Amino acid sequence: MNTVRAICTGERLSNAAEEAALEVLTRFYEEAGCRVTLERHPGFVSTPEGASFVVEGIKYAAVTHPMTPSVEGLHAPLVYVPIEMVATVEAAQVTGRLVLTDYLAMEPVVRGLEAKGALGVVFITGEYIHNMIVSRVWGSPTPETLNNYVGIPVASISLGDGNTLKDRLAKCEASLDAMLATTVYGRWVEIPCLVAEIPTPHKDFVMVTYHLDSWHLGAMDNASGNACAVELARILAPYASKLKRGVRFVTWSGHSHGRYAGSTAYCDAHFEELHEHCVLNVNADCLGGCCASVMTESPAMASTAELAKCALREAAGVTDWIGCRYSRSCDQSFWGPGVPSIFSQVSEQAPFEGVAAEAFKKMFGSSSSGGFGYWWHSIQDTPDKLDPVLLARDVRVFAVTLCHALMDERLPVDAKAEVDELTAFMKERQAKAGDALDLSVVIDRLEWLSRVLVDRLDDEPEVANRLTHEVLREIIPLSYVEGSVYSHDEALRAPPVPMLRDIDHLDAMDEHHRQATLVKLRRQVNRLKMGVRHALQAAGADVPV
Ligand SMILES: [Zn+2]
Repeated sequence: MNTVRAICTGERLSNAAEEAALEVLTRFYEEAGCRVTLERHPGFVSTPEGASFVVEGIKYAAVTHPMTPSVEGLHAPLVYVPIEMVATVEAAQVTGRLVLTDYLAMEPVVRGLEAKGALGVVFITGEYIHNMIVSRVWGSPTPETLNNYVGIPVASISLGDGNTLKDRLAKCEASLDAMLATTVYGRWVEIPCLVAEIPTPHKDFVMVTYHLDSWHLGAMDNASGNACAVELARILAPYASKLKRGVRFVTWSGHSHGRYAGSTAYCDAHFEELHEHCVLNVNADCLGGCCASVMTESPAMASTAELAKCALREAAGVTDWIGCRYSRSCDQSFWGPGVPSIFSQVSEQAPFEGVAAEAFKKMFGSSSSGGFGYWWHSIQDTPDKLDPVLLARDVRVFAVTLCHALMDERLPVDAKAEVDELTAFMKERQAKAGDALDLSVVIDRLEWLSRVLVDRLDDEPEVANRLTHEVLREIIPLSYVEGSVYSHDEALRAPPVPMLRDIDHLDAMDEHHRQATLVKLRRQVNRLKMGVRHALQAAGADVPV
């Protein structure tokens, strides 16, 4: 809690408060015995600098969102479109209008309304207004993605004001006169990545990662993750000589206002090293929230699920962990180099009722948890929203994870589980594609790889650990990455094996489009074949052509 309070001196968005927090972290890590380096990488960030929203002369408190355009004063009729109607609303109903809709500000909603001619979108969020970033561009843009941002202004208001406006709209004939002004400041900055290492002779390392930047004070999101990492450094440093592999704590900015620009830049700057030597990414975000009693939903990969289960059981007595597959969020910028990941959050709120709960469900996509609390991404995310006992509990989960990951002779990451999961996905894809696409070679090779691993993972720990790493860096990109492993897929929901997602749409295509899509899919099958081939070769199997 002292670390949380030391970091929470202000909103940390590429500014003085962020630099002050970096100095605090540097001091704490050095006091713990770590070697600290501060890297800075160019990145594009965007901050909301103010919004004004006036309806029929009445002003409502509003915030705007990063990566959306500024507008000086947009006057237009305001209409309400319930969120569940956004996909089907007639263009004529929103063209030339400002659209009021429900829940947290989400890019696909804005894009859908923009395509139908809306001039701007205002979201009704929670009891307190929630900040969100409205962008699908993962990390800083490239020439290919420079124009992939939404083109209309976006703002959010509170649930109370939203309900008032909905009532007013329901009582009038069709629309109300509204004015929206937003100021969004996008610029290239040098994004800090603070790297702290416990000195060890090992080349292979586990990475503990988390974001420093915040909305408002960001005590839970994410001073809690910072405090967790510092505490882990303090706990582990005295055992440096007992560690079987290195550990690197990496702090970055650019998560909240750069759509993961910091983690992406760190990946880009260290790609080869991550590919060769990073054996696990442990991400810490939003820990220790008051009443955060749900501990069954944290994200993990097939290869890290057992480790997650074990750490939650040993540290917090959780026996019914289910987990979830990573969505395209949580600073998961390391799938390209094939780094296995575990966690981000480990505890969430129990489900709650009401409109705000619906908004959170949309965001978090789970019915068994209520997300991160009403304070998340709002002015209410202050240190009193953390429960010191629960924060300690969550840090213990990470501590147990790290102890196993660093001190077990055998790296507690299961390459065979990742291979078997991919095999199951491929069989499902084959069933869906039918005769249109032949995945049999890929499936056969994966099954062969699984059998080979049963024997080979019993080898000497050093050999088995190397094999685990070499197999996973081939398999993880096949399971998680759609485009090139050197670029970064969009920040949108993606199915497993996203490179084969077009299979789902083949039936609805006309013949010309279908044939063209099959050309693309056959090339993707080559990617899959080659990836599994390399994994088999790493396992010493001689793969015939
Ligand atoms: Zn966060």
